Amino acid sequence: ADPVVAIVGRPNVGKSTIINRILGRREAVVEDKPGVTRDRVSYKAEHSGKDFTLVDTGGWEADAKGIDAQVAAQAEIAVAGADVVLLVVDAMVGITATDEAIVRMLRRSEKPIILVANKIDDLHQEPEVASLWSLGMGEPYPVSGLHGRGLADMLDALLEIL
Ligand code: GDP
Ligand code: MG
Repeated sequence: ADPVVAIVGRPNVGKSTIINRILGRREAVVEDKPGVTRDRVSYKAEHSGKDFTLVDTGGWEADAKGIDAQVAAQAEIAVAGADVVLLVVDAMVGITATDEAIVRMLRRSEKPIILVANKIDDLHQEPEVASLWSLGMGEPYPVSGLHGRGLADMLDALLEIL
């Protein structure tokens, strides 16, 4: 079976946008508002001739108590079945308490992690990613899911550990 790559991160950081960019088609549902209920969905993806399964995570109840717990629990299920995890953060917002909750869960999972710093649409925004080293998740890869910028480099790094 193809290796499984789970994409996790708090609502609205751009997980589904990144998936669509990797797939080359608009299949994952992109939402302008966070917290829309959605099940985990798997997609067959490919980069540089290597096939892998991408698992989008976005299923949580916006009105349920404790959104941090909801997001972390949802991500945890996807992570359990993954070989590698793409942790997406919004580099223009910076690190939030929810990001930190997800990081704590990821540490417990002991899965390999690639830290994806999304919404770096322009070169001049790249200095924003430096603060993300403080998550302790290694090198942040600056990308723009919207424009595709940086995704090839990030995927090259992913393939090295698949
Ligand atoms: P998800 O909840 O993590 O799946 O996030 P979505 O993919 O649904 O995106 C949430 C919002 O962020 C949408 O309005 C996207 O258009 C926007 N977005 C996603 N990626 C980028 C990016 O690289 N740059 C910018 N400027 N906006 C983005
Ligand atoms: Mg989504």
